[in-house]
Amino acid sequence: MSITFATDLPGPPGTDDSPCLCAQMTLGFVSMMRGLDTPAVRANLATGADAGCPSCGGAGVERVPRENPLCLNLANDNAFRLLALLGLPVTPLGECSIAHARRALLRARNVDLGNHVRDDEVVQGTPCEREDGTVELRPIRAWIRGLSVDRLAGYVERLDAVVRTGEAARATKLVWY
Ligand SMILES: [Zn+2]
Repeated sequence: MSITFATDLPGPPGTDDSPCLCAQMTLGFVSMMRGLDTPAVRANLATGADAGCPSCGGAGVERVPRENPLCLNLANDNAFRLLALLGLPVTPLGECSIAHARRALLRARNVDLGNHVRDDEVVQGTPCEREDGTVELRPIRAWIRGLSVDRLAGYVERLDAVVRTGEAARATKLVWY
């Protein structure tokens, strides 16, 4: 449900092992969360793991890729709004050259961000009675955070930093996935 913007530079090497959520009922889960990694801990995790788990395949330990600091991760809707603002293809997967990304960012600074924002959305439920006997006519069920001009402008600045640091390290492409 999210899209990551990054350059084609390799991320930090390696992965970290982490106890898999499917084995969260084991003692080994807590032990590994606390930094203890022994064959006994792993064996204990495996006993509580789900053999069909797609993350760990029943081992109880999954490999988590290390976070690449040179990237920007956005919820899909926000990512699509940013792509539209930049004039880049509004697709869940894509790439463009660093030069193209720089021109797009330059252009984005000169357009009206107001056309790309979204208001907060409040989802109300059906009337319901509270414990004290009063009736709530429009109870709030969900609050979907919108995208303000300020936050969108912040994304433009952060993406600019991703592109500039990437370019300085000789990246050739901006990618999103
Ligand atoms: Zn698992």
